[in-house]
Amino acid sequence: MTAILSNLQATRQAIAQAAQAAQRSDAEVRLLAVSKTFPAAAVREAYRAGQTAFGENYLQEALEKIDALRDLPLEWHFIGPIQSNKTRPIAEHFAWVHSVDRLKVAERLSAQRPPQLPPLNVCLQVNVSGEQSKSGVAPEAVVALAQEVARLPHLKLRGLMSIPAPASDETEQRLPFARMRAIFEKLNTLGMGLDTLSMGMSHDYPAAIREGATIVRIGTAIFGQR
Ligand SMILES: *Cc1c(COP(=O)(O)O)cnc(C)c1O
Repeated sequence: MTAILSNLQATRQAIAQAAQAAQRSDAEVRLLAVSKTFPAAAVREAYRAGQTAFGENYLQEALEKIDALRDLPLEWHFIGPIQSNKTRPIAEHFAWVHSVDRLKVAERLSAQRPPQLPPLNVCLQVNVSGEQSKSGVAPEAVVALAQEVARLPHLKLRGLMSIPAPASDETEQRLPFARMRAIFEKLNTLGMGLDTLSMGMSHDYPAAIREGATIVRIGTAIFGQR
């Protein structure tokens, strides 16, 4: 058995266990395999092990991989920081964008989404830990941004994404994820109909699943150290 196959199996099992511990069905939690810095051959191997959704951070690298793997029915998610002059290839080549954090970027993605493609699925990235250095909209500005983004014709606002500050144990890890869940529920109380909470990485995804994550974004635990 290859390392990627056994890592994927172990990760899926851990997701199922965390879901069960939270009294949730594991069908509610999607695994996004984060393949940044790993070659197309590694993605191909993960596909053979049944994985179809992949996340990428760096646009140029992602576009090369998408092209090299166009024979496979993969679903590509852009999860990295977005420069507003680089939105067109994102709008053209991805099914999802998790890292929208300002209106200008959302407007450009909507305007540049090819009309023959389905609407681009987007999540708003929230700077839930309030770190100066991190991208993401401030928690108190999420409602206003969500209302603007929801009006854009070629986007489908699906939910929220976050990368909290690292914490050592599961109790600490759960605090920012619980805050995310509260923001998500507030938006749905306002009638936004969101279905996605993209949160949890290799070191903290069990905590995220406990707090309602519907997509976990996992790189290292599947592909190894970068
Ligand atoms: C790299 C990255 C991940 C995956 O991180 P791991 O710790 O390798 O699981 C998830 N989300 C984002 C936004 C990333 O940049």
